[in-house]
Amino acid sequence: NGARFGPRAIRTMERIGPYNHALNIVPEAVCKIADVGDVPFRSRFKLEQCIEDIEVHFRRIIESDVRPLGIGGDHSISYPILKAIAAKHGPVAMVHIDAHCDTSGEYDGSKFHHGGPFRLAVLEGLIDPDRTIQIGIRGSAEFLWELSYEAGMTVIHAEEFAEMGVATVIEKARAVVGDGPVYVTFDVDGLDPAFAPGTGTPEVGGLTPREAQALLRGLAGLNVVGGDLVEVAPQYDATTNTVQVGAQMAFEILCLMALRFEIVGE
Ligand code: MN
Ligand code: MN
Repeated sequence: NGARFGPRAIRTMERIGPYNHALNIVPEAVCKIADVGDVPFRSRFKLEQCIEDIEVHFRRIIESDVRPLGIGGDHSISYPILKAIAAKHGPVAMVHIDAHCDTSGEYDGSKFHHGGPFRLAVLEGLIDPDRTIQIGIRGSAEFLWELSYEAGMTVIHAEEFAEMGVATVIEKARAVVGDGPVYVTFDVDGLDPAFAPGTGTPEVGGLTPREAQALLRGLAGLNVVGGDLVEVAPQYDATTNTVQVGAQMAFEILCLMALRFEIVGE
């Protein structure tokens, strides 16, 4: 609901890019990049159909040899996007930054909600749980995430992140995902609400933007075939900081995709 305003808010951000000094890259100088607009829905009243519409839209993009960076919207969008990603690449590795594992079952009678996209992705073979790492997990919903553990996903809680330090988390993430195609999904609630209060399910004790930037930059060189930045609900943050950090994290993911293109030309 609230995150429906995320894309238009992120489009208003001006002070993002074009240069990323840490990765020494200007994505637009390396590849063609475009905002291809919103996913058209046949009806906003039919949830299952909306999920289909997202998949169809992303399939067209991916079949054209374009790597997508989706802007949510809530985290439920990752499931149909991953369906389109897996149709091309098979089950992919995943780096997931979030306060929540989002591997829960049905809620209010539906499996299509923002707390469960990665349960569906595992059960349907869209992501490889052995090559998936979930980072920044915290809050009081731990009992919902049993599938993460049972399926063999690597879970790094926020407090473990603090103990390990960024460099060790990067090392772990790279070891888990390996060399194959990897999807990077960033829920803005992975950040501490001190920096990103504009989101539907804020959880105290999260990553700082600097930690998250360092983590993403530490993935440089990986074969990032797609990604998303979700859960920005701008109306809950009158300062616009959530939009600012959300747009910056999206830019960091974009830089990873451009960097890979610069290195290997694909
Ligand atoms: Mn999420
Ligand atoms: Mn979350």
